[in-house]
Amino acid sequence: MDKNFKEEFTQIIKFEPPLYKQRHQFVKDLVEKYKPKKVADLGCADCSLLWMLKFCSCIEVLAGLDICANVMKERMHTLSPLPVDYLQPSERSLTVTLHHGSVAHKDPCMLGFDLVTCIELIEHLEESELKKFPEVVFGFMAPSIVVISTPNSEFNCLLPRVMLYRHPDHKFEWSQAEFQSWALETASCYDYSVEFTGVGHPPTGMEKVGFCTQIGVFFRKSPQTGESVQSEKPMEAVYKTVFKAVYPSLKDEKYLQNAVISEVIFTAQIIKHRLMSKREEYNDDPERKSKFQLSMDCFSDYLGKLVVEKNMEPFVSGNEVYIPLRTIFSFPKVNRLCGTFEKLCKLIAGKVTLSSDGSAVMFNIEHENEEN
Ligand code: SAH
Repeated sequence: MDKNFKEEFTQIIKFEPPLYKQRHQFVKDLVEKYKPKKVADLGCADCSLLWMLKFCSCIEVLAGLDICANVMKERMHTLSPLPVDYLQPSERSLTVTLHHGSVAHKDPCMLGFDLVTCIELIEHLEESELKKFPEVVFGFMAPSIVVISTPNSEFNCLLPRVMLYRHPDHKFEWSQAEFQSWALETASCYDYSVEFTGVGHPPTGMEKVGFCTQIGVFFRKSPQTGESVQSEKPMEAVYKTVFKAVYPSLKDEKYLQNAVISEVIFTAQIIKHRLMSKREEYNDDPERKSKFQLSMDCFSDYLGKLVVEKNMEPFVSGNEVYIPLRTIFSFPKVNRLCGTFEKLCKLIAGKVTLSSDGSAVMFNIEHENEEN
């Protein structure tokens, strides 16, 4: 390479967005494409990739592993549920766990994952650990997809201030040929295919040096599932769990019940409010009173264009307003939350005041009448 040419480039190489963000975005795009339910990040460091992935709605299980417990603990609180997660529980379930241990050791908690990410990890491994790594990740964990990223040493000539390696803890940095030869051998040994790509484009005219970060995406060829692997290999735990968060989810009956009760009361209140305002409008005028029923039909139309049978109409009797559960169940959100009418009845039993036959939500309007 022409010396002046090289120096010119060393002045200008700056990635936007920063390279670590591009690597994490690469993983996020992969998650959005293949929709894995269970994802493990090996060498998760400060949990920043895990934090980003917790917003991917397909993921139900997220696990992180690092040999340095302190680096994980620094920001692991960012993986805890927020108050809003309790106020509006998600429809999916999500469990996030962090483990302290080495990728050179097998632990049953690492079984059953669909996607395993190893972002800028392998270059931190000692020779002996790197030797064991393929058997742990591809042989034992055996997920459908493995992503491995590592620095491309051919790019280093374009990076100012890099003397030997990009980071003092790196044990090696590979050229494209070195990484690809290791990856192809590993893939063939464990029955995976591998595709090469990267992030951090080289400058125009320097394409030969390749991406700044080289990436191998491995796909398991056989359809074997994590569960079948698990049953074959009962074994002792060697990792220490340092963090576990179970997010509130509507899959959990407790949160579903709260959500259904709130939605039922909210819907019934809206219906009651409309009913009462119509009633007031007609109350003082006996001629118009007879038109009240007709108007209620229009009102029901307005409420979500329901097919209203006679027994679904809300009505007032003395100081009580009755909103039939069938009407409430016809509202899309209540319907989606409960699935069946029987489930609705079961979830609100004893929690919402109902008519004596249990078919309608009942409100007492005595005080409201007094106020009027
Ligand atoms: N994946 C992170 C950072 C990688 S730095 C990111 O994308 O930003 C490499 C990490 O691997 C460090 O946190 C280091 O503690 C961890 N590590 C090194 N050797 C390890 C081993 N044998 N097992 C598990 N983690 C290891």
